[in-house]
Amino acid sequence: MSDLNLNKNTATAATDFTVPANILAISPYRAGKPTSELAREFGIEPDSIVKLASNENPLGFSPRVKQALIDYLSNSSLADLGRYPDPNAFDLKAVLAKHYGVDMANITIGNGSNDLLEIVSLAFLNRDSSAVYSENAFVVYNLSTQARGARHLAVPSKDLGLDLDRMFEAIEEDTRLVYIANPNNPTGSFHPKEEIIAFLDRVRETRGNKTLVVLDEAYNEYLDPELRFNSAELIAEYPNLVVLRTFSKAYGLAGLRVGFAIAHAEVTDYLNRVRQPFNVNTLAQLAAIVALQDEGFLEQSYQMNKAGKAYLSAEFDRMGIAYVPSFTNFILFEMNEGPKVAQALLAKGVIVRPVVGDGLPNYLRVSIGTEAENQRFITALKEVLA
Ligand SMILES: *Cc1c(COP(=O)(O)O)cnc(C)c1O
Repeated sequence: MSDLNLNKNTATAATDFTVPANILAISPYRAGKPTSELAREFGIEPDSIVKLASNENPLGFSPRVKQALIDYLSNSSLADLGRYPDPNAFDLKAVLAKHYGVDMANITIGNGSNDLLEIVSLAFLNRDSSAVYSENAFVVYNLSTQARGARHLAVPSKDLGLDLDRMFEAIEEDTRLVYIANPNNPTGSFHPKEEIIAFLDRVRETRGNKTLVVLDEAYNEYLDPELRFNSAELIAEYPNLVVLRTFSKAYGLAGLRVGFAIAHAEVTDYLNRVRQPFNVNTLAQLAAIVALQDEGFLEQSYQMNKAGKAYLSAEFDRMGIAYVPSFTNFILFEMNEGPKVAQALLAKGVIVRPVVGDGLPNYLRVSIGTEAENQRFITALKEVLA
């Protein structure tokens, strides 16, 4: 089964509920298996399980965030949890605006950037429109397009990277959104600033603001410093650009759910019209503010990831396993019958991510963990392949 062919899914309704065809055709998002589930299924000690399936930060999050959460929960402000969170996330937006050199009016907060992908699609897609995305990209682009009943213009990837030329050519008169994950998940590929700008120029020249470019930069913090660029600054020149960032990956706050969009003030206004007013909870707002300020933790995470990437790449080379050079905290590697191998790894307490739903049955995706976790993975993989 392929998530890419959602619209061909022949889900049958067991009852006489009246459900729109586009909703019937959705197969639910399949997340990486939670550790607790694996422990139950295979009778493995939860502590000995290595989860390398969801691109989380193996270091967790900043100790400063931990302290801020403990302080919050152990003093009188705890009572605030009985109140709704700040619907406009004033304090969080203030630090984000400063950090990225934009106005607060350019920022939309989300319950993770998944929420923002949903919000963007709610604001701009309907049944009379279409969205362009790569076939081997984040499956949520497909899901939110499908949920709106919009047309899919899915473009094959090129050498497991995005084919930006074909994505541009795929744009039609009714195309409202183009999704670009940079770096891309699940392939790990990356397009440098010049190529992104060239793409934005082409879209602006031919489409004006009729087509928005959603630049999803969930893995930005894992890029080598010379490759990073502040795409948020580009919104001044490209009002049709929506930049998405998240606290789930390098900042390690996946469990708290917080992400944000940076866009033209008018676009931000539309996004906020469909955003649920209390979509980001109080603890998440607090944690994100502190996380943003701990650059030392980010640097430590980056360095550990870089070392892990070098180790895993070298091991793959030694084992003769092909992989996509990664710009992220995961590596996509070639593996015949990926799902079967993933299942065999599960029995050894190692969770990796099959990407069959992303149209890549003969690949697996492994998140880069701590040194010990990476070694466990390699040992388990060698045993499985022996
Ligand atoms: C992980 C990821 C996200 C972020 O998800 P959150 O909802 O912020 O946890 C967004 N886009 C891509 C491409 C991702 O891989």
